[in-house]
Amino acid sequence: MSNFNFVYTVLVCMAGAMNLLLTALAYHRRNDFAGARIFVAIAAFSAVYVFGTALGMAGDSLSSLIWWTKVSYLGLPFIAPCSLIMILYFVGFERWVTRLRVALLFAIPVITVALVWTNERHHLFYQRIEALGDGPYPLASVVGGPWYLVQGSLTFLCLAAATVLLLQGWERLKAAYLPQYMVMLIGQLLPMACAFLYLIGAAPPGIDPVPASMSITATLYIWAILSRGMLTAAPIARENLFECLRDGVLVLDLEDRLVDFNQAASEMVDGLGPSSIGRPLAQLFMGAGPEALAYVMEGANPPGETVKDLKWRRAGESGYYQIRSSPVQKRGGQVAGRMIMLIDITERMLLQEGLRRLATIDGLTGTANRAHFMELSRKELERFDSLQHSLSFILLDVDHFKNINDRYGHPCGDAALRHITDICAAHLREGDVLGRYGGEEFVLCLPGIGLLEAARLADAIRLDIRSRPLASSSGPVAITASFGVTEAVTGDTLTELLRQADRALYASKNAGRDRVHLFRESVTLPYDQNDQTVHETPTAAAP
Ligand code: GH3
Ligand code: MG
Ligand code: MG
Repeated sequence: MSNFNFVYTVLVCMAGAMNLLLTALAYHRRNDFAGARIFVAIAAFSAVYVFGTALGMAGDSLSSLIWWTKVSYLGLPFIAPCSLIMILYFVGFERWVTRLRVALLFAIPVITVALVWTNERHHLFYQRIEALGDGPYPLASVVGGPWYLVQGSLTFLCLAAATVLLLQGWERLKAAYLPQYMVMLIGQLLPMACAFLYLIGAAPPGIDPVPASMSITATLYIWAILSRGMLTAAPIARENLFECLRDGVLVLDLEDRLVDFNQAASEMVDGLGPSSIGRPLAQLFMGAGPEALAYVMEGANPPGETVKDLKWRRAGESGYYQIRSSPVQKRGGQVAGRMIMLIDITERMLLQEGLRRLATIDGLTGTANRAHFMELSRKELERFDSLQHSLSFILLDVDHFKNINDRYGHPCGDAALRHITDICAAHLREGDVLGRYGGEEFVLCLPGIGLLEAARLADAIRLDIRSRPLASSSGPVAITASFGVTEAVTGDTLTELLRQADRALYASKNAGRDRVHLFRESVTLPYDQNDQTVHETPTAAAP
């Protein structure tokens, strides 16, 4: 064995050992980032390939060399496709790695292994393998068959694609990741350069420099893992800050076309997927509803950061989002596009909505509670003072409600209150406010309606309540109610108006219930449903 061949054999053996060590190390760190597992596979395939080559050289015959070459092919064809996948993870394009694509990528290497092991029968991989020289060191001259070209092309394409991806990522690279990056780049370029030398015949005859070069690349990888945090640092920057972000991020170019997005964004915007890259933003937000679409379109050329809370549909449900748009600048300071950040505030908004509901809506009847009714009515009264249109109030109290509770039970009483709410609501016009004033008392605020019209409305509700008994399990339950009506005049306060309505209601109760009274100029008057006028003889108003 010549000196040169000895050095070469030692180098290849070393490369095998280094790759074994690398496999163990990468396996130990396999949970550090998603692409780490594929790195374990690369190291393992490389170890098989390099050891196969070394043991082939250690043999003393062409047949043992061929057998060990077959062993080395259990690793070799898989290295380049695996490297491409690892680089995709490294540069942050892991979304491109789908099961189908991986299966397609590995189809050729699998066929290669099958053809190499059965080559004697068809010679599709090697046309000829001949012994070279007759020294102690077995060398072979190989003539490739058609599949040799297919596998070779795949290997080169994968390595070239991985190199291009790495070079493209150069601009986005942070200085801290430069060592890992360089290791990755050398890891791709060195074996490729060696393979090229071998193919053009620049390597010593029968000697493949690729396995030997792997002692260098494996050493570099081990150094990068142990001292530079490779398999953790670089991808973490992307995974944590972008992929693992709970907030959705969309990156857009100057023409507002999608450049990149993270997982969270795809969960917030229906239809957002890998095929959306390059699409105009407006198209992506088409399904989100007009408000969201208008906002994202409006912000097409934002001078600075804008923030807005929006509601849109997602997977058929409404979601609330805070949407932030901010310009993205290149290192030189020129604007390169913009970034849209989507913050899911659905939970907070629903909670707020729930609290607001609890604070304003009566739980039993779903009408405004007393405090909320007062607030809304006070606003109406302010409007009344400035606009001078009519404004009336109706107060109603269920007659002998206690009896309903006593006779049919409390749940039936509850149902009666809901029944009355439904009847009142059916009479409301837009802008009217219905509230639960107390236990079985309801109140209506009616903007734009004068006293007589309000009395007519009260009477219509009264008749409706009387003619529609509540259907209960114990049969129909007859219900009546008494009403008091008043109209605001300039200077009236809400308390004063409600007191007036209460006095009219009291008059209705006194007069025998199931009727309507009005309050006008300090007196209460009965409303006559037959001639729809007000009797001029006042009923004695309660103090
Ligand atoms: P009147 O004709 O004089 O108004 O007689 P009334 O029995 O309706 O009046 P009263 O004020 O004596 O009784 C009101 C009853 O309403 C007493 C209370 O138990 C009942 N009530 C108040 N709130 C509720 C409720 O939410 N559900 C039920 N089922 N009953 C209620
Ligand atoms: Mg009452
Ligand atoms: Mg009552």
